[in-house]
Amino acid sequence: MNVAALIAAKRDGRELDSRDISLLIEGYARETVPDYQMAAFAMAVFCCGMTPAETGAMTRAMLNSGQVMSWPTGNPVVDKHSTGGVGDKISIPLTPILAEFGMRVPMISGRGLGATGGTIDKLESIPGYRTNLSLEEIRDVVESTGCVITAATAEIAPADKRLYALRDVTATVPSIPLITASILSKKLAEGLDSLVLDVKWGSGAFMKTLERARLLARSLVDTAAEMGVRATALITDMNRPLGRWIGNAAEVNESVAILQGTGPADSTQLTELLAVELLVMTGIESDRAAALDKVRQSVNSGRALRRLHDMVAAQGGNLDAPRPLHEAREWVAQRDGFVGPVDCEQLGWALIEMGGGRKKLGDPVDFASAMEMLVQPGERVVRGQPLLRVCYNGAIDGLLRRCLETAVPVADRPPENGPLVVEEISASSQQES
Ligand code: URA
Repeated sequence: MNVAALIAAKRDGRELDSRDISLLIEGYARETVPDYQMAAFAMAVFCCGMTPAETGAMTRAMLNSGQVMSWPTGNPVVDKHSTGGVGDKISIPLTPILAEFGMRVPMISGRGLGATGGTIDKLESIPGYRTNLSLEEIRDVVESTGCVITAATAEIAPADKRLYALRDVTATVPSIPLITASILSKKLAEGLDSLVLDVKWGSGAFMKTLERARLLARSLVDTAAEMGVRATALITDMNRPLGRWIGNAAEVNESVAILQGTGPADSTQLTELLAVELLVMTGIESDRAAALDKVRQSVNSGRALRRLHDMVAAQGGNLDAPRPLHEAREWVAQRDGFVGPVDCEQLGWALIEMGGGRKKLGDPVDFASAMEMLVQPGERVVRGQPLLRVCYNGAIDGLLRRCLETAVPVADRPPENGPLVVEEISASSQQES
């Protein structure tokens, strides 16, 4: 393989052969292809895109750079992936609900990325909770509790681990084929039968426009289907945070509230919809209304919450141990008006300024920093009315102050609020049948 010739072909917009893509990724995982060539290749893909066949070949090659889990036949193996947002804690309540229906959920999840939070960081706010399970431990926890939420091991898609870090520092993250291969190589390594995707669009998402979110959703579901995994995507709104709370320990608290039936309406609704989607996709339920009813029963009976306790305990954690937040202060409106369009990305950056996320690799995370949204976009407010509750042990000044000012503006007119779930995208092959 001549890597420079491959880069030139992609740069000039030509379609690459799947064998060449496979050799390139294999070489990169084995470190025979250097970072500088892979960076040039990633930029060529960023600029020229990939055909569905190339995206499939790239995904397969990245998946095959590591191990793929296998499971005994019987209970369906499922997962959910969100493309990332602010206040998105849905994986935590959803996972035990799915396990309640006999699904196996070997969820491999990530840390915060850019301004978006990560499930692994949130769960690490639970004293004792381990997120570095080996493949064997993942299998054991799933067999005993039905579900697990842990970080990727070194055996899972090592090519993605390297390429992701490279993309992060070469401005090549927001490329639809590269995102598709990155997400699916990790998810499909779990040995899934079915996958539901929550593709977010808006100010707090990687896809800032609905059009880009649709393209990403289509690429993800079609590539998964081509690789034998049934997938559906919901395109959902990330122009306002999901739920009321943003911050690691606070989002675990809100997840518990969802499983106690006292969670905010939007995150409860999305948890239910994603659960129903998988119940129908796996054929456990054929009727959506009946599925929704059963999902609610699993919550109202307290069974889903007990299962979350069991999963946390199996991973070494104690869900009942205190998760204190820093003392709260109020962030108030500076004028009368309407709460304007929320800039979720700025809320994400504000949390990072408060130590609730990382500015650089390896930074410690302050689990006790958090913000609570006290108003919704479009709500009429008066000067001095609290907009946010800010739990932080430092001064609210400098960059943090600027982030908060931009994040929750007060305007003359209310903004237009779109629906939480915009549409559902199924694989092209499923639509035709
Ligand atoms: N999440 C991933 O795992 N990979 C991407 O490329 C983007 C988001």
